[in-house]
Amino acid sequence: FVNERTYQRYLQENREEEFHKLVDEGIRRVEEQLGQEYPILIGDKELRTPSKFNVRSPVDTSLTLGVFQRDDGELLRSAIKLARESYRDWKDSDWRDRVELTVKAANELRRMKYELAATITFENGKNRYEAVAEVDETIDYFNYYAQLLEENRGYTREMEGRIVKGEHGISVMRPYGPWLIISPFNFPLAITATMTLGALITGNTVVVKPSSDTPLSAYKLVTTLRRAGFSAEVVNYVTSPGEVVSKVMEENLDIAGFAFTGSREVGHRLLKQFISLKPRPAVLELGGKNATVITAKADLRKAVEGTFRGAFGFGGQKCSATSRVFVESSIYQEFLARFKARTETAQIGDPRQKSTFLGPLINKGAVDKFRRYVDQAISEGGRVITGGRVREDTRSYLVEPTIIVDLPYTSSLWRTELFVPIVLVKEVQNLKEAIRLVNDVDYGLTAGIFSQDTEEVEYFFKNVEAGVTYANRESGSTTGAMPGVQPFGGWKDSGWTGRNAGGPYYLLSFMREQARTTYD
Ligand code: GLU
Repeated sequence: FVNERTYQRYLQENREEEFHKLVDEGIRRVEEQLGQEYPILIGDKELRTPSKFNVRSPVDTSLTLGVFQRDDGELLRSAIKLARESYRDWKDSDWRDRVELTVKAANELRRMKYELAATITFENGKNRYEAVAEVDETIDYFNYYAQLLEENRGYTREMEGRIVKGEHGISVMRPYGPWLIISPFNFPLAITATMTLGALITGNTVVVKPSSDTPLSAYKLVTTLRRAGFSAEVVNYVTSPGEVVSKVMEENLDIAGFAFTGSREVGHRLLKQFISLKPRPAVLELGGKNATVITAKADLRKAVEGTFRGAFGFGGQKCSATSRVFVESSIYQEFLARFKARTETAQIGDPRQKSTFLGPLINKGAVDKFRRYVDQAISEGGRVITGGRVREDTRSYLVEPTIIVDLPYTSSLWRTELFVPIVLVKEVQNLKEAIRLVNDVDYGLTAGIFSQDTEEVEYFFKNVEAGVTYANRESGSTTGAMPGVQPFGGWKDSGWTGRNAGGPYYLLSFMREQARTTYD
């Protein structure tokens, strides 16, 4: 298994122009598809409902990306029913066949790389570098999970112990049944993929329900899986509104498990509803309030670049985004000046352009939230040292990357996940105080440190309460985990199973153990 690193590869080979040409072609292909209608996919049926919804692009709200079906619950129920029926055969499929299908699907995704990247850009406004990286991440998930299944020989193990003569035990990990997959807008392909494939490759069947802001990437994922040979009955696709999904989850006993990535509030509510009828497995990746610590022993250039990318990459709309920064007093002023200067160089605009770093936020609600948080910070005594404004003059949702200092620690903003490009910076006396503050939130997703001192780094790793931790990460202090490199998942309120996506234990969340014992 080798990670895809498309942009870096083109850069190293001095073929940057070619990269941009491919991305531009992808953009044109998606432009040709604008306004199409997309059905709900249940088995081999393409279904349409009387009521529809339009998905407009945040890049240019005059563009309709697609018209999607608004299900009132009936189609979701029948998708679950079919997933329950098709589970009967799929559960006994040979794991080697599932590996083969997965590798085929990875190759098919690679073939479609630039169309998929452009789809992401149009759907959620991600810049071209991060959009291609998201397709890379998706391909990595496929190849990595295929490798895991191989390495673990389908998760079957001979047991060594025996109590009586002639006794033979095996442990076999087996699937649960149909899973409902609920995926977010910020990684509409990669996160939909990790959950969907996690369930499928381990022998479960799935019904995929994407975020209503970004249903097109998921549609393309599902149709790609089917083209690669996954049978239509095992991977279904619905676009039911959130309220409908939540109601069906509460009453439907055919759903064996559910995988969700999104906010803590929604995740916890769905989980409670889901297990109110009976306890069932769930895989939840929730929010974060991630912090970066910068000590006096940091390489400041790296700290500035890493913090900038961590806080403002994809407009802070990542659950891994850097949201709080704690800086040791002796370098506080210098860090702040350089961080501000770096932030002011960020190109804000149309993510279709190659020079754009920061595209639009996902929707108007996010812009309103951005405004509200900036106002709250100011009214509570915080100071905006750069950013803080909305760009009103476009058909897009552009806002400025914003750095806030001097915000009293009593402010609720220190504990709330913001999901917009706002970062709070605070001076601290020493590493110990910094770590106490890093841990002083309900979340525990990612955390970063910049320090050239190995003892400080070691102390940080040991004491920080987070599922994904980095030292001196210039490409984004708390962000950008890749499958097979940085298993991604949260502690505390940020997660549920404690087995990170893209890591060696992830697939276990989708399986239950069966002990098989025989006697001679
Ligand atoms: N895996 C992504 C990262 O490490 C974040 C995923 C998310 O925001 O949900 O940056």
